[in-house]
Amino acid sequence: MNPYGYVVAENTDGIITVNGHSYRDPKMHSKNTNFALLVSSKFTEPFHEPLKYGKRIASFSNMLGGGVLVQRFGDLVKGRRTNEKRMLKSFTKPTLSATPGDLSLVLPKRHLDDIIEMIYALDKIAPGMANADTLLYGVEVKFYSARLELDSNLETKVANMFAVGDGAGITRGLSQASASGVWAARVIGARACGQKN
Ligand SMILES: Cc1cc2nc3c(=O)[nH]c(=O)nc-3n(C[C@H](O)[C@H](O)[C@H](O)COP(=O)(O)OP(=O)(O)OC[C@H]3O[C@@H](n4cnc5c(N)ncnc54)[C@H](O)[C@@H]3O)c2cc1C
Repeated sequence: MNPYGYVVAENTDGIITVNGHSYRDPKMHSKNTNFALLVSSKFTEPFHEPLKYGKRIASFSNMLGGGVLVQRFGDLVKGRRTNEKRMLKSFTKPTLSATPGDLSLVLPKRHLDDIIEMIYALDKIAPGMANADTLLYGVEVKFYSARLELDSNLETKVANMFAVGDGAGITRGLSQASASGVWAARVIGARACGQKN
């Protein structure tokens, strides 16, 4: 989460993806806040190339927009492309020069559904989040493969030792890290109360 921040482009193995940052110096502050909505994917047999899959998705935005795509949330839910004209009318001004486009041509349905659902959920606690002029840039990708060996309770091979969040290599985002903590805490709580899990 980057208050007063800027969306920036980065190069992930030759593919242009997005990230964000903000400056400490107040003179460098923008009027926007940016953060990433990350959707985790878990693949099943026989697929073994998740990194390649992630890179392929990211490369679609480059193919369509020559780099990073940006879309107004209102256009995404209406099922239409953001074009230069609509972008010029947008109340939120982009902090990264990106091609106005259609992220539904880039992201798989489930990822897109999850992102839209999350934006509406966030709107309840941060009203305005689901504004038509909220800008979505695509895509940010996080690859991570080094992780501890854990069971479905997030318990390590050492009994009663649990691992959660980024340090355990199981998450790379805020909501997933928080949820993994809640999950392990519930298991620990149930054990403390003598319940089986
Ligand atoms: C600049 C930046 C922007 C980000 N933006 C987003 C975003 O927009 N969306 C998103 O989903 N994710 C974002 N992330 C990722 C997100 O912040 C992490 O995935 C999440 O914070 C991981 O949570 P965690 O609890 O696993 O670890 P952390 O939040 O890193 O918490 C670990 C804590 O342990 C403490 N600690 C470390 N060592 C010790 C020790 N020896 N003893 C005691 N305490 C210790 C640390 O001080 C820290 O407070 C961003 C990360 C960064 C750095």
